[in-house]
Amino acid sequence: MTEPDASLPWTAWREAPITAVAPVTPRVKSFRLAVDFADRFRAGQHVDLRLTAEDGYQAQRSYSIASAPEAGGTIELMIEALPDGEVSGFFAEVAAVGDAIELRGPIGGAFVWGPEDGGPLLLVGGGSGVVPLLAMLRLRALAAPEVPCRLIYSVRGRAEAIALAELETRARDERGFGLSLLTTREGAGRRIDAEAVAEALADLGNPAHVFVCGSNPFVAAAADLLLGAGIAPGRIRTERFGG
Ligand SMILES: Cc1cc2nc3c(=O)[nH]c(=O)nc-3n(C[C@H](O)[C@H](O)[C@H](O)COP(=O)(O)OP(=O)(O)OC[C@H]3O[C@@H](n4cnc5c(N)ncnc54)[C@H](O)[C@@H]3O)c2cc1C
Repeated sequence: MTEPDASLPWTAWREAPITAVAPVTPRVKSFRLAVDFADRFRAGQHVDLRLTAEDGYQAQRSYSIASAPEAGGTIELMIEALPDGEVSGFFAEVAAVGDAIELRGPIGGAFVWGPEDGGPLLLVGGGSGVVPLLAMLRLRALAAPEVPCRLIYSVRGRAEAIALAELETRARDERGFGLSLLTTREGAGRRIDAEAVAEALADLGNPAHVFVCGSNPFVAAAADLLLGAGIAPGRIRTERFGG
C-alpha cells in the first residue's frame, strides 16, 4: 500500500487507500482512509471524493470527517446509501479494503469547532448530518471535556441512528455532555420542535456556538427554531447535505 504524500496541498487530488470498512446502521457504512492529514484538520471539515468511470465520466461528492484529529494516519467517513445514489451506491456496494479512492481536503473553514473555541456547545443533527458533529464530540472528549455540550439528534428510528451506542455511552459517562434523541417514525414520533430546543437550552445555558447539520429541510426547520428560542444568528452555523 502506498504511503500518503504529505507534500500535497488540500486542493490536490490524491489517492487514499481504504484501510477498513464496517457497517454502522443498515444504510450507513464506516470507511477508514489513509491520508497525510489525519492529525491535522479541524473537527467539522469534510473531504471531496471523486470516482472516475472507464469512459472518463467523473462524479464528485463531499463527505464529512467523523473522526477527531488523531495519530494513526487514517480518517473515518460514514456514508449513507441513498436510493439510486451515484456515489453513495458505489460505497455501499462496491468499495472495499485496499481500493484507492481519489480524495482532496480537508475542506471548510466556517463549520468547525476546536477546544480553543470553548462553549457551551449546542449540536443539532438530522440523520447522517450527525457525522461532522461526531468529530466535534470526539475531539471535545479528547481535548476539552470541561466544555458543556448537548446534542439534539433527530433520526427515523433507533436502528438508523449513527454511533448510537457511542453517543449513549458518552451521555452516561462524560460529565457535561447530554443527548436528546428524537425518533420521527418510532414510538409517538417526534420531530425537532420548540420544546426539544427549550429542554436543551435549559440544560446547557446560552450556547456560545451552535452547529446544525442535515438535509435542507431539517437545517431550515432547526435554524428557525433556534432563532425563535432567541439564539443570536451569528452563533448559529449550518451545513446542508442536500436532499
Ligand atoms: C459538506 C457536505 C458533507 C457531507 N457529508 C456527508 C456524510 O458525512 N455522509 C453522507 O452520507 N453524506 C454526506 N453528504 C452528502 C453527499 O455529499 C452526497 O450528496 C450523498 O452521498 C448523495 O450522493 P449520491 O451520488 O449517492 O446521490 P445522487 O446520485 O447525487 O442522488 C441520488 C438521489 O438522492 C437525492 N439526494 C442527494 N443528496 C441527498 C441527501 N443528502 N439527502 C437526501 N437525498 C439526497 C438526489 O436528489 C437524488 O434523488 C455531504 C454533503 C455535503 C455538501
